[in-house]
Amino acid sequence: MRLFAAILISLFIGCPVAAQGGAADLVIINGDVRTLDREKPRAGALAVRGNRIVFVGSDADARKFIGEGTRLIDAGGKLVMPGFNDSHVHFMAIGNKFSSLNARELQRPEEFYEQLRFYVRFLPKGRWILGSGASKELVASLTPAEIDRIAPDNPLFVYAADSTEAIVNSAAKKIAGLADVKEGVTVSEIDLARIARRVPADHIRRWSEIAETASNYAASYGITSVQDTDSDARADVYRELGAAGRLKTRIYDCSSLTGWFSDQIPPPRNEPGEMVRTGCLKGFHEGDDEWTPRLREQVLAADKAGWQVAVHAIGSKPNSIVLDIFEQAVKANGKRDRRFRIEHAEGILARDLPRLGRLGVVVSIQPHLFGRGAGYATGYYHSLVGNGSLAALGSDAPMTAFDPLLGLNFRSAGQGFSLPDSVRGYMTGAAYAEFTEAEKGKLVPGMLADIVILSQNIFATTDLQINEAVVALTIVDGRVVYERK
Ligand SMILES: [Zn+2]
Repeated sequence: MRLFAAILISLFIGCPVAAQGGAADLVIINGDVRTLDREKPRAGALAVRGNRIVFVGSDADARKFIGEGTRLIDAGGKLVMPGFNDSHVHFMAIGNKFSSLNARELQRPEEFYEQLRFYVRFLPKGRWILGSGASKELVASLTPAEIDRIAPDNPLFVYAADSTEAIVNSAAKKIAGLADVKEGVTVSEIDLARIARRVPADHIRRWSEIAETASNYAASYGITSVQDTDSDARADVYRELGAAGRLKTRIYDCSSLTGWFSDQIPPPRNEPGEMVRTGCLKGFHEGDDEWTPRLREQVLAADKAGWQVAVHAIGSKPNSIVLDIFEQAVKANGKRDRRFRIEHAEGILARDLPRLGRLGVVVSIQPHLFGRGAGYATGYYHSLVGNGSLAALGSDAPMTAFDPLLGLNFRSAGQGFSLPDSVRGYMTGAAYAEFTEAEKGKLVPGMLADIVILSQNIFATTDLQINEAVVALTIVDGRVVYERK
């Protein structure tokens, strides 16, 4: 018995890591860690095992988690935060922005090369880069070797303005059986037609490639989760991509409320930590009175079935009507943790504001898209939070830029959200909006390892620093998915 105790003690002393359940897969030290946890808002280090955070605390204690095979990241004093969660995006449309390259505005070869480099950064290997509008001067000024160096694995086919020429690369020529043709960045009209025939007819509907592009792009902005409020219902594509190990973004995928109303399938059961979740139905109200009874019927039915309902509303009248409907749903279906959402929620009347808190409505807002409006200047956003509504922030990309730092930057002189409010809106608020606050939005042991490291300390209060900040590193599900070179 005594021997057993002695062995145990020596194990603990000799091997602190083992006592904690094994070495961590990833340890970040020397960080300015902002946990968003009120109990313990700041730390210097954290450790990750698998896809979960297992430790948040001091460098010295974090080092105990280092073992063979642990990846050690020295944050160099930089800001370490939960990954951004964009509450309102159209994910496939973001990926589809990279489906064509508009060369019309590009004059100098460097401009074209830069654009090409930007596309190649995010596109999966093998995806075509199509485009048009290149001037004859531009085509003539490009060198085949440089194009091949930038885009070795993506076939390129960008038409000149008159369509008699196109910029092509070796990858495109190879696919068309023209590997030996060495004319330059363009080929004869006959060969051009041969390449054109090899371009996939479904280029803009290759959803897996398009989703992967969007996911790569998200990772570069430190966005670890998105809530896809497009009603295109592509969860299966996202899941397939995840199964192939190519999805770098957690996705909460909404589908159409009206579409659901015709089949009325029961809501899904999401497992904890899943990369792709569903459960949200998206509706609209754009002020048309005739639409109100139909929307009411759909919202009440979906709410009764247990779905989360999100309704797009911009302007005082649609917001009032949507709040009426939400109120009626609560009355009809009883109290529960339903988290109705209003997407955009711009222009809610002052007299309607208290209803947000009372009904527990999540306002899903996009400060960078709407932030320039009058509502902003009059302290509208401030009043939303002041009335007890729960704010989740997002971009509405690709309608606007995807970069969450632009959203954070939209604040001025106490009129909008404070910076901490904005950060919460992109992290804990966004997690709450999709029922994942127990798993995401904070850096706390047990929660998912979705983490971003920023180049600048955005809390150092000057706007300049937010403008200059870029993402240094992104971790999703315990995996480093982006590193700034
Ligand atoms: Zn939208």
